[in-house]
Amino acid sequence: MALKSPFTFLVLLATLWLSVPVFAAQGIPVLCYHRCGAEVKDSMTIHTKDFAAQLDWLIKNGYTVIGLDTAARYIKGEIKSIPSKSIVITADDGHKSVYSDMAPIIKKYKVPVTLFIYPSAISNAKYAMTWDQLRELEATKLFHVESHTYWHPNFKREKKTLSKEEYEKSVHAQLYKSKATLEKKMGHGIKYLAWPFGIYDKDLLVKAKEAGYDMAFSIDNHHMKAGIDNMAQPRYMIIDGYNLKRLESISSGKEDK
Ligand SMILES: [Zn+2]
Repeated sequence: MALKSPFTFLVLLATLWLSVPVFAAQGIPVLCYHRCGAEVKDSMTIHTKDFAAQLDWLIKNGYTVIGLDTAARYIKGEIKSIPSKSIVITADDGHKSVYSDMAPIIKKYKVPVTLFIYPSAISNAKYAMTWDQLRELEATKLFHVESHTYWHPNFKREKKTLSKEEYEKSVHAQLYKSKATLEKKMGHGIKYLAWPFGIYDKDLLVKAKEAGYDMAFSIDNHHMKAGIDNMAQPRYMIIDGYNLKRLESISSGKEDK
């Protein structure tokens, strides 16, 4: 088609623009925490004071902590806008320090947090919270529980060591049993999944969708955004030793390359 005038060209551009679905343009940093403590024995534990300082820094620097569900719905185009400096907080594994150390700080700042939980540990492993504690946290309306598979397997290792049949059976159990158990214990639907150790592959992404998860999360150190596979939306793992400058670098998108 020959463009007869600049006007025709502009009309064509406008028509094209209007016919294209409007995708969410803004990427969102999703932080992934694990444990807090007065003593730091491993890199996955951050000092409780550092966690408080990080939250304080985010709020004082104009960030709005939004819920994971809000972020997911925005990325899927179901919500039109979110605050320009939106950020999401998640904590994996259900460690008891979430209850003892993180929760008082979260309650002080009144921000939403998603807890990715693998049910086999809850009310069972020494290091983990109990079902009652999880329900108590959810009753604050600040915490929300989602799935981290059933017992936190290493799918990469399992794929190598198990027979094809055993592996398929394991994947099925990890995805379905976790969802069903959490829904029964917490009394609400489970929509989101965090991949254990951040491990996933093409086949797992399909399986997670089939199991009924709306979105799944890795730790690929990028902002979540439209255009990335919704079964592998990235998060930033926050580990011991990250200072406020590093947090600024992550939150502002400088590391989202
Ligand atoms: Zn984990």
